[in-house]
Amino acid sequence: MIFSKSYCPHSTRVGAALAGSTARDQAATRTPPPAGRVRAGAPASLPGCGSEVKELFSSLGVECNVLELDQVDDGAKVQEVLSEITNQKTVPNVFVNKVHVGGCDQTFQAYQSGLLQKLLQEDSAYDYDLIIVGGGSGGLSCAKEAAILGKKVMVLDFVVPSPQGTSWGLGGTCVNVGCIPKKLMHQAALLGQALCDSRKFGWEYNQQVKHNWETMTKAIQNHISSLNWGYRLSLREKAVAYVNSYGEFVEHHKIKATNKKGQETYYTAAQFVIATGERPRYLGIQGDKEYCITSDDLFSLPYCPGKTLVVGASYVALECAGFLAGFGLDVTVMVRSILLRGFDQEMAEKVGSYMEQHGVKFLRKFIPVMIQQLEKGSPGKLKVLAKSTEGTETIEGVYNTVLLAIGRDSCTRKMGLEKIGVKINEKSGKIPVNDVEQTSVPYVYAVGDVSEGKPELTPVAIQSGKLLARRLFGASLEKCDYINVPTTVFTPLEYGCCGLAEEKAIEVYKKENLEIYHTLFWPLEWTVAGRDNNTCYAKIICNKLDHDRVIGFHILGPNAGEVTQGFAAAMKCGLTKQLLDDTIGIHPTCGEVFTTLEITKSSGLDITQKGC
Ligand code: FAD
Ligand code: NAP
Repeated sequence: MIFSKSYCPHSTRVGAALAGSTARDQAATRTPPPAGRVRAGAPASLPGCGSEVKELFSSLGVECNVLELDQVDDGAKVQEVLSEITNQKTVPNVFVNKVHVGGCDQTFQAYQSGLLQKLLQEDSAYDYDLIIVGGGSGGLSCAKEAAILGKKVMVLDFVVPSPQGTSWGLGGTCVNVGCIPKKLMHQAALLGQALCDSRKFGWEYNQQVKHNWETMTKAIQNHISSLNWGYRLSLREKAVAYVNSYGEFVEHHKIKATNKKGQETYYTAAQFVIATGERPRYLGIQGDKEYCITSDDLFSLPYCPGKTLVVGASYVALECAGFLAGFGLDVTVMVRSILLRGFDQEMAEKVGSYMEQHGVKFLRKFIPVMIQQLEKGSPGKLKVLAKSTEGTETIEGVYNTVLLAIGRDSCTRKMGLEKIGVKINEKSGKIPVNDVEQTSVPYVYAVGDVSEGKPELTPVAIQSGKLLARRLFGASLEKCDYINVPTTVFTPLEYGCCGLAEEKAIEVYKKENLEIYHTLFWPLEWTVAGRDNNTCYAKIICNKLDHDRVIGFHILGPNAGEVTQGFAAAMKCGLTKQLLDDTIGIHPTCGEVFTTLEITKSSGLDITQKGC
């Protein structure tokens, strides 16, 4: 189908040149023309290129619809809309069968790779083979894979601004308000610790060292912008149509896309993937949405948050509290029940006590009941009233910032799923899926954070999206394996794990069938730096009934994420205690500790470290 400056992707296969109203208006009302025909856009700004493109289509025997933007009254308006839709300001701007191909170079590249010919051959009852709602980790990986397999794919992605007005670009949570800015801020905090250590290693400096929030945030946001751009580019290169609009099902196989100006366009597809992720939850108490921020706001906050109360005690809460304290801020974490629910509680407590030793305050068994603004400002001053979860005690505190990290709600309730019969778990909002990520409606699939019972992690979303596309389009039968997914909590002292928590292992296998090996360890880097020799900890849980197979791997120490990754691969290969013993370590590293584990927990022997 088509393309060109004058062309609007929302129009259909062929069609007359646009005239009169804007491309979008017309696109929304136009009837689909027959498949496999091409309309080309004429060059308004790059004479020559447009003719080359037209010649190319003509040589392929394809009839093109051309809109010469300099020859129509609303040409400038059309160009504006085109640039908004495609992020391409120049002409020619080419679309084939509703897929945005790009300018002259991209069209010829697509021709050389055979993609253009493939697109021209497409003819189906639907506009697309696959529409993916949500351009985050899961959605993008699924889209790219489907496009590689030659399918006509569209991604709808739209960020509803947070109550504080924060929004961001393409890429979803991980890139914009999750893993990436979080790990970079964690790194910024670790550098502060490294600066302290550096004096012990002989570095001398006189200037007062302080952290500048604005400098860090600007640098991180610049990096994120480059990633946003990279995602757009890679979709374009793979001829995936990207539309920055909110998707809502209106009837079977049909979705309404509403852009930020409220303009609506309708698309149809043979199959759909829901990959809409989650957004931070609010407390539902007086003042929360008005005055509190969430992780959606923190990473681009234009000012240093100052004295901060973090509400919540899982991944997001502890990670954010950790790096904020690392910048020297006064940080308190308000914990409703336990730290890191679902994780090994021995490890969770060790994570907490390290944070406590490094300046983070914990208010345990309290929940906020009211937030009041005392002073406006950047940051202002907030009064928090909290009550005990165990009695009638109430407390008050004054903070510059209150960061809510109390969990995330699935983005499934406002997208018309009920209109096509996709069932959700009414309580959690999650979408139940079978082992091939299929929902209750056969042509609709769900991947990533919205799918029920799956780890909410970027690599999980990526893997399940990619494998889903391969299965949908006949490239493979492989299903996503959600067992033994490793993860790391990037707290000041990182905690990496794979497999079962000790409590869970006992529940599943019974204590008498398990052997747990553990040790405290002292990273070499910490010795000269004078850091504690009995803080880092390693533990494996082995199933005695199955050759001492390692069913739980836990490490608390520097670079725990890096250490855990390799052991997770080993666990996938069936790692046993014997195989660990047979492995020769790399000295001096933290990971080598797993090759020399000797002391069982059941022996009760001393595991404190005296030296290297
Ligand atoms: P998302 O990445 O959330 O993408 C969904 C997209 O769909 C969003 O762009 C959303 O705006 C859009 N959307 C929603 N509804 C619609 C609609 N109706 N129409 C159009 N678009 C829509 N994971 C890790 O593995 N490691 C980490 O270190 C890590 N750190 C994290 C730190 C924080 C602070 C947070 C919040 C999460 C972190 N995660 C981490 C989790 C990780 O970010 C998610 O698991 C991952 O992003 C999920 O991907 P997804 O594709 O399911 O959804
Ligand atoms: P979460 O894991 O759902 O934890 C929510 C936390 O908030 C819990 O501590 C919970 O306490 C507390 N809480 C819930 N409601 C509360 C209330 N009304 N008042 C006070 N406290 C309340 O949520 P999350 O930390 O936002 O993480 C979401 C997901 O993102 C995670 O599942 C994770 O997979 C992913 N993530 C991953 C990483 C990583 O890989 N490093 C980092 C961040 C996030 P209770 O225990 O009492 O319920």
